[in-house]
Amino acid sequence: MRVLLLGGTGEARALAARLHPAVHVISSLAGRVPDPALPVGEVRVGGFGGVEGLRHWLAEAGVDAVVDATHPFAATITANAAKACAQAGVPHLVLARPAWPHGAAIVVDSDREAAETVARQQFSRVFLTTGRSGIAAFADVDAWFLIRAVTAPDAAVLPRRHELLLSRGPYRYDEELQLMRGRRIDAVVTKNSGGDMTRAKLDAAATLELPVVMVDRPPLPAGVDTVHTVDEAVGWISSR
Ligand code: NAP
Repeated sequence: MRVLLLGGTGEARALAARLHPAVHVISSLAGRVPDPALPVGEVRVGGFGGVEGLRHWLAEAGVDAVVDATHPFAATITANAAKACAQAGVPHLVLARPAWPHGAAIVVDSDREAAETVARQQFSRVFLTTGRSGIAAFADVDAWFLIRAVTAPDAAVLPRRHELLLSRGPYRYDEELQLMRGRRIDAVVTKNSGGDMTRAKLDAAATLELPVVMVDRPPLPAGVDTVHTVDEAVGWISSR
């Protein structure tokens, strides 16, 4: 059996490790991050060229099933995979890690709305963890930002007052607590990424009684088979 595993997440690497070598897994990475953590087994890197490109790629590679274990905010590849698989008649599963409970967070639908919330609430020292691609929305907000991202954002989109912290999770509770205390953070902005690798910031924010602005997930395409754990994804593959 040949499975295309759309990855770039810890869950995708865990699933590849569970399936390999009994199943021929081809893991796919977007190629955004230099020196990415690599899964076991075969890996390909780079976009497919939209729905059309992916449909051709599936046919050429003779893939029997696709598991989309991309990040919950990688909405374009998720929509493309759903369409390409439906058109090609290839079984398709989304592995979507459970979302974090909203708790007392201020829930918003976009980076733009998160930036408006920071401005409206007059937060002054903001821990911004929404990732490189969302930072432009905060460029004109009059606050100081501790920006944490895996790769450096384009300097043109950075807010005027900021500190840039380039790092990659997982993050520990005590480190997050120390970081937020040390920088005198008064609000945290995050996506609802879910999972354990980056949730310690929420626990630290709760301890410090800091407000959290949480960008909600984009919806999944209608009608896709969805599971929430690596175990369930292994079960889905095994059943085929
Ligand atoms: P996206 O906006 O959904 O996708 C943009 C384009 O990138 C897609 O149309 C596709 O290009 C290509 N692409 C994305 N993921 C791919 C994959 N796994 N394999 C091959 N091509 C892929 O994606 P994104 O939000 O930029 O995320 C890119 C990657 O980083 C994803 O694999 C995701 O799992 C990972 N990641 C994302 C986030 C996040 O917050 N968005 C966080 C952590 C990790 P073509 O149209 O040319 O096929």
